Amino acid sequence: MKYNIALIHGDGIGPEVVNEAVNVLDTVAKKFGHEFCYTPLLAGGCAIDAKGECLPQETIDACKKADAVLLGAVGGWKWDTLPGDKRPERALLGLRKELGLFANIRPALLFDALAEACPLKPEIVEGGLDIVVVRELTGGIYFGERGTKETPMGLAAYDVEQYAEEEVRRIAVTAFDMAMKRNKKVTSVDKANVLDSSRLWRRVVTEVAKDYPEVTLEHLYIDNAAMQLVRNPKQFDVIVTGNIFGDILSDEASMITGSIGMLPSASLAAGNFGMYEPVHGSAPDIAGQDKANPLATILSAAMMLRYTFGLSKEADAIENAVKAVLAKGYRTPDIYTEGTTLVGTKEAGRLVCAEI
Ligand code: NAD
Repeated sequence: MKYNIALIHGDGIGPEVVNEAVNVLDTVAKKFGHEFCYTPLLAGGCAIDAKGECLPQETIDACKKADAVLLGAVGGWKWDTLPGDKRPERALLGLRKELGLFANIRPALLFDALAEACPLKPEIVEGGLDIVVVRELTGGIYFGERGTKETPMGLAAYDVEQYAEEEVRRIAVTAFDMAMKRNKKVTSVDKANVLDSSRLWRRVVTEVAKDYPEVTLEHLYIDNAAMQLVRNPKQFDVIVTGNIFGDILSDEASMITGSIGMLPSASLAAGNFGMYEPVHGSAPDIAGQDKANPLATILSAAMMLRYTFGLSKEADAIENAVKAVLAKGYRTPDIYTEGTTLVGTKEAGRLVCAEI
């Protein structure tokens, strides 16, 4: 099969980690008989330098034509003094909006070989940890009505949390579909004891659950969920929640797994289209030094194969190769501990290719 991938290398370590993910994809293509065609595109600081804007229209158009997008990271010190709406990171919001990416998927997987990087007590995470946070990405308080008004108490500012039934339904379906491919449990997180928007959220998620009799649905309030995630994270399989709660919970879940250099993510639109990127930023402090951990981007490429192209065997091959490289004791500087073997970005990528 032939697949078209839009490649946004971006800034800082973005190009280094994306290059390794491409090497891994090419290795998979050779082994399994696929063809991956890449279209390199500009977004972020490099696009500001070359085109005067962080998200040129031609990048948007080419992404829409591709089957999926693989992105490194954007931003860096050079552009830090630009006003908010001109900064490289704006490209990410623009891409989400233009591509209709309404579901953010963040796995929090604790690799056996990296168990000591977990900040929780060993007995809490014994036997591993494998959670997916499904966050609604284009609705809720970040996109609701906002403003500032005069009041007797001085200026007051407000941001409205609002969810429509259809917005909740499509993210719930994404979460239940995902649970069907995993351990068949969905935890929906809201604040239904206080918020009307959460009560509607809970009703719609409960309705969607009726179409998935094999999946166990549980509801938790956000405050309890934040607590349970560090008290007993193994109880979770798929967590589904709105934009602002998901923003916070997905960071908390990632922290449990140790290094930021290991965390992939996917943002999905209707019809399996998706944008795949590591959770980390452009790490300007280590850019160009062959120190960046490419595994988050390589694992993002594996998610692309699984969720957009439906190639689970191929995705498994990448994930198993990453596990094998870690089990053999190879570590980039961010996850290095005494007694393991220090490798650079390129060597880490080469080792994954060799395992595949
Ligand atoms: P960051 O994730 O870039 O870096 C935080 C720390 O983690 C740094 O010490 C960095 O060296 C380290 N780190 C990050 N990724 C790593 C990797 N793959 N391997 C090894 N170490 C890694 O976050 P930041 O420093 O807050 O932001 C730097 C720039 O990236 C800023 O301009 C920010 O706006 C941007 N940013 C972009 C994205 C994105 O493109 N999705 C996300 C977050 C931040």
